Amino acid sequence: MPMPPARSVAVVVGTRPELVKLTELVRLLGPAAHLIHTGQHYDEELSGRFLQELGLPEPTFLTGVGGRPRAVQIGAALAQLDEVFAAEPPIAVVVQGDTNAALAGALAANSRDIPLVHVEAGLRSHDRDMPEEHNRVLIDRLADVLCAATEDNRANLLAEGIPDSRIAVTGNTVVEAVERQLPAPAERAALLDRYGLAPDAYVLATVHRPENTDDPDALSAVLRELAALARDGMPVLLPLHPRTRGRIEAAGLDHLLEPLTVTRPLGYGAFLALARHAALIVSDSGGVQEEVTVLGRPLIVVRRSTERPEAMRDFAALVRPGPEIGRLARVWLDSGRAGLDRLASLDSPFGDGLASRRIVERLAAFAERSALATAA
Ligand code: UDP
Repeated sequence: MPMPPARSVAVVVGTRPELVKLTELVRLLGPAAHLIHTGQHYDEELSGRFLQELGLPEPTFLTGVGGRPRAVQIGAALAQLDEVFAAEPPIAVVVQGDTNAALAGALAANSRDIPLVHVEAGLRSHDRDMPEEHNRVLIDRLADVLCAATEDNRANLLAEGIPDSRIAVTGNTVVEAVERQLPAPAERAALLDRYGLAPDAYVLATVHRPENTDDPDALSAVLRELAALARDGMPVLLPLHPRTRGRIEAAGLDHLLEPLTVTRPLGYGAFLALARHAALIVSDSGGVQEEVTVLGRPLIVVRRSTERPEAMRDFAALVRPGPEIGRLARVWLDSGRAGLDRLASLDSPFGDGLASRRIVERLAAFAERSALATAA
């Protein structure tokens, strides 16, 4: 497959999940990729170390975006992306998911009439309280190529009147991210040892969404349930997102952390390794809902809505902060080896590990068309 010319595909990222899910695409694009980082996640633990660990090329960094209100993040990134695209016009812009960075990338591509490729198109939570829902709907309206992960995602797009000719069901790039980044068994065993954990005998938890962190009642309800599991003898490992740490301190909830093993946010390989052997994961993350289906582990999703119903069929269940977390956790934990074996035997509903390759093929076809148009 002939590849697009050097730095001709602008890949706009801004947060941890975008780095994870676009790594394989950027690797396959090789010199054709121009990685642009808006700085939405500016924390070393959520961004800098991921660029290194995932082996991504040095990005062009934008400034004045991280930690700012949503409108400023989008506006500042849009203005700077427009300058980058004017100086070095790409043949296509790739954005992933539903972040402010992705929306800014989409608007910047649209303003300069550059074809826009949306990776992970067609997710819908139908929850208008989530800024991400507005971002993904807007990006899908603007995109020229919508890479849907599943047939359900395609159906969401068709229902909104988006023509089928713009949609490609590629699978989700998270599948190959997990396959490539999961450490080998010996390395995983060493990591579990370091945390004093035995396989299939601990809970891994992450909490960072505003709906769980910004309301002290919700935050304490989640932490209380995790603390109760730990006090019952089930070790609970909690890699703490910087936002959550801040909110816990502000709300005076530090005492609820005492029974838990609290760490800084983990690198991607370490997180996958610990998720791979957890008896149960409790999380409000989007990407983790997909990753557990590849790793074959059960998940309690602490959120009021999900845009990933595919994961809810076998691997995950949606609950609100409160006693339902503990009740459901005990049901999963009681299902023991048989429960884990059942999940391990199921295929992920999110794809076959070839999504990035399919998307790169589309980009190569673009490059060929634009070369022909220039020659004509
Ligand atoms: N993750 C990680 N280290 C951690 C916690 C999560 O590498 O300590 C990864 C996780 O595997 C997933 C991604 O971060 O791929 C999810 O990011 P986040 O939850 O911030 O975003 P979301 O997926 O909810 O948009």
